Amino acid sequence: MSNETVIADQFGRRFPYLRLSITDICNFRCSYCLPDGYKKTKADSFLNAQEIIRLARAFAALGTWKIRLTGGEPTVRSDFLDIASGINEISGIKKLAFTTNGYRLTERAGSYYDAGLRAINISVDSLKSDSFKQITGHDYLENIMDGIDACFDAGFENVKLNTVLLKGLNDGELDSFIDFVADKPISLRFIELMQTRDNIDYFKAHHLAGAAVTEKLLSRGWSQKPRITGAGPAIEFANKDSQGTIGLIAPYSKDFCASCNRLRVSAKGALHLCLFGEGGYDLRKYLQSDDQCEELQNKIISLMDFKKSAHFLHDGNSGVREHLASIGG
Ligand code: SAM
Ligand code: SF4
Repeated sequence: MSNETVIADQFGRRFPYLRLSITDICNFRCSYCLPDGYKKTKADSFLNAQEIIRLARAFAALGTWKIRLTGGEPTVRSDFLDIASGINEISGIKKLAFTTNGYRLTERAGSYYDAGLRAINISVDSLKSDSFKQITGHDYLENIMDGIDACFDAGFENVKLNTVLLKGLNDGELDSFIDFVADKPISLRFIELMQTRDNIDYFKAHHLAGAAVTEKLLSRGWSQKPRITGAGPAIEFANKDSQGTIGLIAPYSKDFCASCNRLRVSAKGALHLCLFGEGGYDLRKYLQSDDQCEELQNKIISLMDFKKSAHFLHDGNSGVREHLASIGG
């Protein structure tokens, strides 16, 4: 699909995919992420659009071809479309994606498409209005359903949905989710709940192992798709009678990290080599002028030596990240 990236670690993994958080701010209150909503801090100073474009340019020149904009809620930024179209113009970027809670999607889907965004992941944790409200703090399910239709009308060929598996909250809806994608080109991903510093009790109460999804899919005649080389850590399933597909992201499963193909940069410009476990390396000081590009690239390459083989979540190395809104999931 593209030139091979030169960003690689000592374990032979390559990283053509960058998840770029552009804000910590969010307007939802997901019970596993920001149950009390986003709290503004004095230290809020997120990368400006120019810094973001410089960062994306440096990564693209090293062979990064996929960038996902995330947050917090990336679409709350008033310059979201400028950022997207700026990145879209960078040579080498083949896929510009974003993850959103679907806020105002019905009105905005067309403008997202026009800005060059081609892959959209929408978080939908329940297909029942009352559970959706209980989980996200917002009575917004109907709007999001309209937003999904608006995405197809706008030209998005495929829509991805993210559903965090939550014991006692949405585990009774597995059949409904499977039925929901039957007649739509939707790729739904169930994500195992991850423990963070702020959700330890919640995690204990609601974590559900991904095996529940696998068992359900197999019992309904679905089968696991063969793994494609270079694909990320999701396990994908298909069924000949379903237009949509279903995936599973199970970070606690064995070998999850072996297929890691992504790096993350926080909204304040810190490079995170793993979703969990380390504080991030400041790149912002290399984003202050265009002529720092080479210095920035050298820094990125040199930091790859610090990437560990795995996240070691099983050894309790999970409480460092306060919540995923600070790094984009
Ligand atoms: N606000 C956007 C959204 O919700 O889609 C983008 C940011 S959000 C942090 C990215 C993804 O991470 C969402 O799909 C969300 O459900 C997921 N997420 C957040 N906290 C999580 C956790 N503790 N475990 C698993 N997934 C989580
Ligand atoms: Fe906001 Fe996304 Fe976190 Fe929900 S998961 S609180 S929408 S950042």
